[in-house]
Amino acid sequence: MRRKLVAGNWKMNGVTASLPEVEAIAAAAAANPGVDVALCPPATLIAPAVAVASGMPIGGQDCHEHDSGAHTGCISAAMLKDAGATLTIVGHSERRADQNETSHDAWAKAAAAHRHGLNVILCVGETEAERNAGRAERVVQAQIEKSVPEDADGSWLTLAYEPRWAIGTGRTPTLEEIELIHAIARAKLGMMVGAEKAEAIRILYGGSVTGANAATILAVDNVDGALVGGASLTAEKFVPIIEAAA
Ligand code: PGA
Repeated sequence: MRRKLVAGNWKMNGVTASLPEVEAIAAAAAANPGVDVALCPPATLIAPAVAVASGMPIGGQDCHEHDSGAHTGCISAAMLKDAGATLTIVGHSERRADQNETSHDAWAKAAAAHRHGLNVILCVGETEAERNAGRAERVVQAQIEKSVPEDADGSWLTLAYEPRWAIGTGRTPTLEEIELIHAIARAKLGMMVGAEKAEAIRILYGGSVTGANAATILAVDNVDGALVGGASLTAEKFVPIIEAAA
């Protein structure tokens, strides 16, 4: 039985004045032990967030594939770990779009994170043009094939299906569309790592999840939680999603 995971992605939002939100979210996580909760603030806030999170997992939003070196502006998995992170997101569509990251990059980053003992939330998802062209399923399958490490299992890897056109737009796929892609994603994982391991890998849905739609989305087959952007920035918006998953 897969436990639900609700993870917040603060993206490029949050300064030290936001730490009370982390504290309030951690309190809600503690009050809802039936659901796993994690928060990925900007890298500058990882250490201070860990200090106020009372054991709630704190993660990065990306990591470099190498441990150290001449890569100005980048942060390695070793550094995330050193700052107190226990997980990281990789392959987010905003990194794919803004930093031209490929599925191969996501694969290398996931492997690096795993090498350092970090759990990984690996994101995949089609663009609107790809969906309109009827290619959503094939795109997601190809991203999974190229970005999921061969030794993946549910103890450290979580997949997040995030259709790009649903991120930050207030639009979501229909429940049937979500169910279909999640089923296809699990089948693809099964072909790669074996059905038994694939059964244990959580598949989150992400893209315009709110307190209003969380319960129905989380009830869909093979939806094992949510990756939440905008609605994770405050406890007021995020806690109802945690409660919907509990
Ligand atoms: P959103 O972002 O919840 O603001 O749509 C989700 C994400 O990008 O992870």
